Amino acid sequence: MAKINILSPNVYNRIAAGEVVDRPYSVVKELVENALDAGASEVEIRIEKGGKSYISVLDNGGGIEYADLKSVFLPHATSKISAAQDLENICTLGFRGEAVASISAVSHMRYTSKCADGECYRIECNGGEIGEPMRAAGEKGTLVEVEDLFCNTPVRLKFLKSDKAEETDITTFVNRFILSHPAVCFRYFADGRQLAQSFGGGEEEALVSVYGASVLDNVYRLDAEKNGIRIRGYISNQNYFKPNRSYQSVFLNGRFIVNATVSAALTNAYASYAMKRQYPFYVLYVDMPPELVDVNVHPNKADVRFADNQVVYGALYGVVSAVLDGKSKALAYVASDASAPAAGQETSRAEEDSREPLAPSDPALGYTYEQAKREMEEAKAAFRTRQSVAAEETQEELPFEEVRGGTADKAVRTGAPQKETNGKELYNDLFFEPNTLEVNAPQAGGADVFAENKKLLAAEEALRRERAAQMKIDVAHCEYKGNLFNTFLIYEWGDNVYLIDQHAAHERLIFDRLQEKIEKREIMQQPMLVPYRRKVTPVEGVFLENCLPVLREIGFSVEEKEECVFSVSAVPTDLQSIAPDEFFDGVLRDISGLRGIKLKELLRDRLAMAACKAAVKGGMRLSEDEVVALLREMDGDAGMKCPHGRPVVVRMTRYEIEKLFKRIV
Ligand code: ADP
Ligand code: MG
Repeated sequence: MAKINILSPNVYNRIAAGEVVDRPYSVVKELVENALDAGASEVEIRIEKGGKSYISVLDNGGGIEYADLKSVFLPHATSKISAAQDLENICTLGFRGEAVASISAVSHMRYTSKCADGECYRIECNGGEIGEPMRAAGEKGTLVEVEDLFCNTPVRLKFLKSDKAEETDITTFVNRFILSHPAVCFRYFADGRQLAQSFGGGEEEALVSVYGASVLDNVYRLDAEKNGIRIRGYISNQNYFKPNRSYQSVFLNGRFIVNATVSAALTNAYASYAMKRQYPFYVLYVDMPPELVDVNVHPNKADVRFADNQVVYGALYGVVSAVLDGKSKALAYVASDASAPAAGQETSRAEEDSREPLAPSDPALGYTYEQAKREMEEAKAAFRTRQSVAAEETQEELPFEEVRGGTADKAVRTGAPQKETNGKELYNDLFFEPNTLEVNAPQAGGADVFAENKKLLAAEEALRRERAAQMKIDVAHCEYKGNLFNTFLIYEWGDNVYLIDQHAAHERLIFDRLQEKIEKREIMQQPMLVPYRRKVTPVEGVFLENCLPVLREIGFSVEEKEECVFSVSAVPTDLQSIAPDEFFDGVLRDISGLRGIKLKELLRDRLAMAACKAAVKGGMRLSEDEVVALLREMDGDAGMKCPHGRPVVVRMTRYEIEKLFKRIV
């Protein structure tokens, strides 16, 4: 019979390490969280080779006492809780005391730390072997260095992504920290290049550090309270969309989360504004009583469970859709600048920590959670009755009943990934899944997360379908009635009159074609007779170098001819009407933001411009054939918007017209 061995801590920690640290970004996350827990107001992060060869986090926090230095590396050593009841009241980010032990088991780790009134000491731990503290030089605070991560776990090493990909994931995390801790000053360097910097001047400043100043022109600032839930932050306006979900962040009680209910609420609020493959931008700070959220789903996970999904859904959907749809309630939700805390006046972390956690009876929240829950129950009951009537009438099951466990994709609708069937997979692109290796399957939110609010979502879906049906013109039975000012085409269908802006419609169709081409990468290149040369500064040079793969993907033949001189020898045919100077000006304008992050968006603008130039103009008379072809090509889509976000189609009903003539009062 096999003998039972008690694993030595060294071996045990190496196994456990896989749970907490699975990739370089998780090391960065744990170390930065420790720095923040230590009360740091400045944090500097440096990585090399995507964090594989070197990671350091320097903070100006409280430091570690000499007597505690060795225990930092011990498993379940934490200064943050001492007894089980403390678990109920967790305010700090880390509390399990496993991160440092795990990291030090699989790397060469070094702490250099100084408390305000003590000496500075350095201590090393190599693959779990703890050294002795030695005197060193250093300011108040802590420098943590991690070298050769996973040096003694070759299998995990093999599962890491490329240096660049690991770096990108770390960058994403650093940006999340900048957004979630706007009062902290962050600096972040990768292989010596500075990739991010924030100044601790508040939420707006943090937003600008991460996304660039232009974002402010395109967002609404919220400060709302509904159902006992406080919702603050920034949401894109009706015309501002992004090509993927990486521009969506939600911080729940200060912690970054990814959650199917939250995402569905936001996506649905934007459903009538977003086009296919368009995602709203948002950075939201949501605060609710901690006892109504279970954050402890998995230590390394961004997912959370709510005590009641419907209340959360209702609050977010209600607030965001009221603002977008311009309802009168929106006035109470949009933050006026006067009431906005000025930069620097933001609550500091210390203040935040000393603040009482929101309690269900917190008068500051004008507590309405129980109330909301009751209302929700009533609404549900009313809805159930309506639903059973509807089901009898149509003899058709509601969409959620069709696919059991497949509720998420039905619910999220527009823009949601189509094939996934549970909350976990739904967000793969955002929430870096640990390698399955050594890691237990997470307790996925799964279909359960949606079970409670599926009815509400079903109602939404039905409403949307109804709206969508109105939005679809029956091309075969639609009659062309002439035009106004050689610009607006008039079509009649049943009791509806549709006015179509011929320029906007054509522009949209061309734009979609160009976009589709770009996505399929079927780009034709047009060589330039005289190559375009651009001399740039060294900083711009580094930036452009990083953009080269994307530029090439778009269809430019571009290379660095000599130090800081770039040469373009071919341009994509779709974009040949655009002056290269102007194009590169646009590209370089992004330099202040994150590297390359807006290049795709820029391309979209350029495409829109190209489409605009190529489209028929207003005032140009179209032949009857062209008029019919245009509507057919539009596939009767009455909800179409031009690439700049303006409506293409305006619908009037017979009723409205008769009302104008007072035939109906
Ligand atoms: P946890 O954060 O869950 O307590 P860790 O393993 O991350 O566990 O850290 C262990 C302990 O080391 C912390 O509780 C804290 O006392 C100390 N520590 C780690 N990093 C720092 C730091 N940057 N500044 C001060 N103390 C730190
Ligand atoms: Mg920690």
